[in-house]
Amino acid sequence: MAGIYIHVPFCYTRCSYCDFYKTTDQQFKDEYIKALCKEIDLKASFLLKNNIQTLYFGGGTPSTLSISELATIFKAFENYFNLNDLCELTLEVNPDDVSAAYIQGLVDLGVNRLSMGVQSFFDAHLRQMNRRHNSTQAKDAIQIAKDNGIDNMSIDLIYGLPYMSFEEWKTNVRLAIESKVQHISAYHLTFEKGTLYYDYLKKGKLQEVPEEASVEQFTYLVDELEKAGYNNYEISNFALPGLESKHNSSYWSGQKYLGLGPSAHSFDGQNRSWNVRDVRKYIQDLNLGHSIAEEEVLTEEDRYNELIMLGLRTNKGFSVELISQFSSVITRFFEKELERQLRQNNVRISEGYCSVRHDKKMITDRIISDFFYVG
Ligand code: SF4
Repeated sequence: MAGIYIHVPFCYTRCSYCDFYKTTDQQFKDEYIKALCKEIDLKASFLLKNNIQTLYFGGGTPSTLSISELATIFKAFENYFNLNDLCELTLEVNPDDVSAAYIQGLVDLGVNRLSMGVQSFFDAHLRQMNRRHNSTQAKDAIQIAKDNGIDNMSIDLIYGLPYMSFEEWKTNVRLAIESKVQHISAYHLTFEKGTLYYDYLKKGKLQEVPEEASVEQFTYLVDELEKAGYNNYEISNFALPGLESKHNSSYWSGQKYLGLGPSAHSFDGQNRSWNVRDVRKYIQDLNLGHSIAEEEVLTEEDRYNELIMLGLRTNKGFSVELISQFSSVITRFFEKELERQLRQNNVRISEGYCSVRHDKKMITDRIISDFFYVG
């Protein structure tokens, strides 16, 4: 299955924790759309050769684009394939961009899945994070989307916030379940260089939550969502049966994908490439007829480590058979490590797949790093 990711870099404000490529300068929107349509034409061979199954508009904030702006982009895709043949067309939305008319417009264009950045149902948290919506807008937006034809929706939550109590996290999880969305993504706060929170951390204005608090919040999340019928199919992602994200699942299983727009990454099965992380430069590049800023050929070691990392983050794990494609040095290293991890009851093998045991999910990162091969 081949998927396409489209990066829409525009945001109205900057969230304190966010290190995705974005700009709050809206003046380049028209030129960005023209450049994106040029990039779609430029990548025609990928679009024609591969059976495109999923489109994912991420950002930035794709819902800063109007329905007519999105329609222009969709039209460019329609030169190469029929959007109605896609099995999943996702668009990320900010709650305060949602209205009945906007959702109806998206549905008419063929969008069949929304991903909404809720993050928390507490106004105090949202203000702290410099989110531009409030809790009421988030709840209303979920309802408006449902009432206007969206029956596959994901919401994002953040845990590990320094100012969030365990009781507040429990409320967030409860409200997420009560919202009856089909999919929930929950990410632990990380302090990324270049963000306001990173500065606060360095200046001692914020502190990371203790590890025990992170474990308590994650364990509660997994237990409650599983009780409510969600499958924790990837460490940060939970879905009702059959409603896992097809687009993201294809990344995790090492499928090819094409990334369009500034900062977007592509993978052709062997090599990874990425566009420039600057909307002005991206527009200039496309005016000159190219878009790729950099490219790297994955070494055998990179490919092995990636298989381990992506596979062990998923519930299903990775096929042990795939390890045989690597050199004898790597396969011997893997076999030795596998034996050690099995002895420690950290992983299990089921139907040829190696995965992290349910009660060891909290130490997934450590298990992954133990499996990493550094030559
Ligand atoms: S979290 Fe989303 S809305 Fe906030 S700045 Fe980052 S991309 Fe924009």
